[in-house]
Amino acid sequence: MFDNLSDRLESVFKRLKGYGRLSEDNIQEGLREVRLALLEADVNFRVVKDFVARVRERAVGREVMESLTPAQQVVKIVHDELVALLGGRNRQLDLSGRQPAVLLLVGLQGSGKTTTAAKLARWLLSKGRAPYLVPADVYRPAAVEQLRVLGERIGVPVHPTDTSRPPVETAREAVARAGLQGLDTVIVDTAGRLHVDEALMGELRDLKARLEPQEILLVADAMTGQDAVNIAGKFDADLSLTGVILTKVEGDARGGAALSIQAVTGTPIKFVGVGEKLDQLEPFHPERIADRILGMGDVLTLIEKAQATMDRRRAQELQEKLRKDAFTLEDFRDQLRQLRRMGSLEQVLSMIPGLGAQLKKAKGLMPDERELVRVEAIIDSMTPAERRNYRVINGSRRRRIARGSGTTVQDVNRLLKNYAQMAKMFKKMRKGGFRNLPQGMLP
Ligand code: GDP
Repeated sequence: MFDNLSDRLESVFKRLKGYGRLSEDNIQEGLREVRLALLEADVNFRVVKDFVARVRERAVGREVMESLTPAQQVVKIVHDELVALLGGRNRQLDLSGRQPAVLLLVGLQGSGKTTTAAKLARWLLSKGRAPYLVPADVYRPAAVEQLRVLGERIGVPVHPTDTSRPPVETAREAVARAGLQGLDTVIVDTAGRLHVDEALMGELRDLKARLEPQEILLVADAMTGQDAVNIAGKFDADLSLTGVILTKVEGDARGGAALSIQAVTGTPIKFVGVGEKLDQLEPFHPERIADRILGMGDVLTLIEKAQATMDRRRAQELQEKLRKDAFTLEDFRDQLRQLRRMGSLEQVLSMIPGLGAQLKKAKGLMPDERELVRVEAIIDSMTPAERRNYRVINGSRRRRIARGSGTTVQDVNRLLKNYAQMAKMFKKMRKGGFRNLPQGMLP
């Protein structure tokens, strides 16, 4: 799945990487290609439009991570938005509440519903549940027989459905029987038709009303692309689906259904079928899929690595300064800026050996998120000489700084006190074992 999309995006990003610095034009051009790539992957056009708009807003806007090259930043943004498009996070089945739990599988004929019922039973069995399969497609005795055979193969009991009786009665009886036999999860394989029709929907609504299932899962064939999305929309409008299971994704090179269903219908994909065999059902993990689409195995690792390298560099610089007892108000301000950008001061500090025990104390001296703006303004209002040596800041200078930064003298006092305490703490550490640490002893 997603092979073509993956190739296309990879070539877009390769080009972007070639630019080093990215102008707004480069980004626009890249986004035009991302848009084409998504449309070619058969993603719903409205979904594509929103997607590109969101990426543009973030990429052209101020969201920057210093550690990443501009092209990597775009990759990261596209990655994040893909994850969101695919539903954000893995959604588990809800089997809580009344037992036995009831799962209703619905969908058109040929979508893979019966096979999926058996796959799901097998998966639940492996998770320690005790499933019970219920063939409720009474119009197709072949479908009932098919499920019986599959159930036997995986060792899951199958309800002996009498095709001459109404499906709702059969299903209710099956739930009661499961309860008596200590089976905790009833999977109902409902009737399929070639098209969505009123008779089918009526029957499914009836089943929903009488069984009150925890899950109503639509089984849809990924190969049918936007048709699957439309079908999901119709079933959802009538039944309020709780999830979708997309089948045959291994044969779908484009991936349009997977990328559109959640955005169009608001229904998450919970599983995907990746082959005809009964163990070929996988929980759907948006992050992993996004990683795979972007063709880098693990984009996040890449990003985390970049981040760690940068933090390490800062830690080294900071350590050097502490070594020389040269932690000025300017450094303090820079740390605050970094902190505001990515909340990494704690990380940076934690990389400096010998600082562990002091870390909590240092953190206590740091202003909180809301105070940061004020603290920055105060330090910005100082002269360079004042920033290098806070001791020269007397009463009249304090008043001037307060005026210049739109704060009060008390604010200035508090900041200087915190800074002085932190500088003292660093100094003490320097006098202790810290000074003797060998160079470069950073993780
Ligand atoms: P139903 O009519 O919806 O109950 O569909 P079936 O369960 O009978 O499946 C129709 C066909 O799709 C069968 O040949 C299945 O083996 C096949 N099938 C189901 N799921 C998958 C899948 O994830 N991948 C592939 N390749 N085939 C599947």
